[in-house]
Formats: sequence, C-alpha cells, structure tokens
Amino acid sequence: MRLSKVNAPFYAVIGDPIEQSMSPAIHNACLQQLGMEARYEAIHVPQVELEKQVERLVEAGCKGFNVTIPHKLRIMDLLDEIDPYARAIGAVNTVEVHGKRLKGYNTDGPGFYRGLSDFHQGNLRDAAVLVLGAGGAARAIVKTLIMKGVPNIAIANRTVSKAKDILEESGGVALSISAAEQRLTEYDIIINTTPIGMYPNEGAMPIDLSSVSSKSTLVDIIYNPLMTEFLRIGLEKGCAVQNGVPMFVHQAALAFEQWTGKEPDIDLMEEIIHQKLGGKPTC
Ligand code: NAP
Repeated sequence: MRLSKVNAPFYAVIGDPIEQSMSPAIHNACLQQLGMEARYEAIHVPQVELEKQVERLVEAGCKGFNVTIPHKLRIMDLLDEIDPYARAIGAVNTVEVHGKRLKGYNTDGPGFYRGLSDFHQGNLRDAAVLVLGAGGAARAIVKTLIMKGVPNIAIANRTVSKAKDILEESGGVALSISAAEQRLTEYDIIINTTPIGMYPNEGAMPIDLSSVSSKSTLVDIIYNPLMTEFLRIGLEKGCAVQNGVPMFVHQAALAFEQWTGKEPDIDLMEEIIHQKLGGKPTC
C-alpha cells in the first residue's frame, strides 16, 4: 500500500480480506451527501503488516479508520487509548486519529443494539435472549446486552467453553446447540452470530427451528445473503425476522459520527447495501 499525505480528510477500513467490503460505498455516499470534502478507502492489510500499515495511515493524515477481520483484537496493542466500553467488550473496530494519537472504540455492539431496539416490539430488558455462536461478534453483542441491562441471556455454541468465557459472572447460561434446541420456546429473541448460512453454505442452519414459537423474533447478523435459511424458516414459522443490515449500517453510522461529529443518513446506507446485494429490504 502506498499512501501520500493528502489535504482533504480521509478515512479507511483495514482488513484481510477487504475486497468485498461495503464500507467505502456507504461512507463515501454519506460524506458526499453532507457536502464533505473527504473520502473513505478499503485497504488490504495482512496480519504481518498491521503495525507498519497503521503507521503509514497516520503519516498520510488519515483521520479515522475501521478495523475488520482479522485485526479487531491485535489493533488494541497499537493504540494510545481505548474507550472503556471497547475495553469491556475486548475488541476495537473503530479508531480515531488525533495527530499521532490513536483512540479505539467498539461500534459493533452498540450498532447491533440500535438496530434491534428500533425493530423489537417491547422492552428488551424483559426479553429472554438466545445467542448462537461465541466468536467476536457474539462477544460484542452479549457484552452490550449485559451493559444495557438485559438480564436473561443464554449462549449456545459448538464449543461451550467459549460461551462460558463470554458470560463470565453475568449469570447467563452457556449451552450446547442441541440443549438450546430443546429449550427454544423459552426465548423471545434468537440471534444467529455464526457464519452458518453465508456463502458458500447458504442452505445451512445454525440450529433446528422445528420447535420455535411464532412469537419469537429471529435476528441473523449475516447480511449477504439478505435472507438466510435461518430467517426464511423463521418467516415460515410466523416469527418477526431481521437481517444483518441494520447492525452493519448502525456500526458504520456510529463510527462516522465519532469521526465527523455529523449524523449520516441511515436510509441512504441501507439503500446502497440493498442495491449492491440485488435485493429489496425484505427484513
Ligand atoms: P468468529 O469470531 O469466527 O466466530 C464464529 C462463531 O461461529 C464461533 O462461535 C464458531 O464456533 C461458530 N461457528 C463457525 N462455523 C461453525 C460451524 N460450521 N458449526 C458450528 N459453529 C460454527 O466470527 P465473528 O467475527 O463473530 O463473525 C461471525 C459472523 O457475523 C460472520 O458471518 C460475520 O460476517 C458476521 N458479522 C456481521 C456483522 C454485521 O455488521 N452485520 C458484524 C460482525 C460480524 P466455535 O466457537 O465452536 O469455533
């Protein structure tokens, strides 16, 4: 990657792989709509180059950047300051640059929470929540739900010990997937955070939904495809369903607000993603 110092502010997302990232499209559209002379780029950064490339970004005058797979944990070692909330989640996806000082934030968890709060009928604090998967995204979501005062959380994962690690002393329950299948009717909200259902396994299911109640809300944080098998079966069962687009656009919007102090147009962001994925906002 070659970067030269530029006058107009610029922002970026770094990761590996990065070619498929939709972040540049949504951020650039919002920068343009607000009449801001700034740009946002996707930069391919392999793990071994992380430190060197972050130095280059700062030297080139980058004002802020997003961090995606596989750098969300390792970036923390390169920062001067970490927001307490990101520290509690244990991962950083947004970095703000002040001169040479770097401050890290996590907007994945709050982005998810904003998207779910807009959608869910009723008080989230009264909901019994089942999270499928115990990776980085599950960690951000569960820690956020706990911090927001949602008391009734279970995590079901292939590796149950990882679910226990996330829940720590919170009082939540760690389950195997088959144990969760036996208790499915207990949950008001079921959130898939595994990649099961993404290309190339679009027909695959993270859990058997045979016994799901039509009163449950199903959320899949996958947004490509827009309609996963998990959501399709949920719809057939009469559940309310939400895909991963709201989480994605809200995490982007929170980063945008952090860097620019301005509120981006969420509807514009959603429209661009639906255009790119060739679908309509079905859920
Ligand atoms: P991750 O850290 O790799 O975690 C993946 C989780 O899924 C792990 O708990 C893993 O179980 C489980 N898993 C993976 N393959 C499995 C399989 N074949 N069978 C059973 N369990 C399996 O990934 P992540 O960063 O959390 O991301 C997960 C998904 O969320 C991805 O699809 C990503 O695109 C999506 N995501 C969306 C947004 C958004 O804005 N909408 C943001 C972040 C991530 P083990 O613990 O047993 O390995």
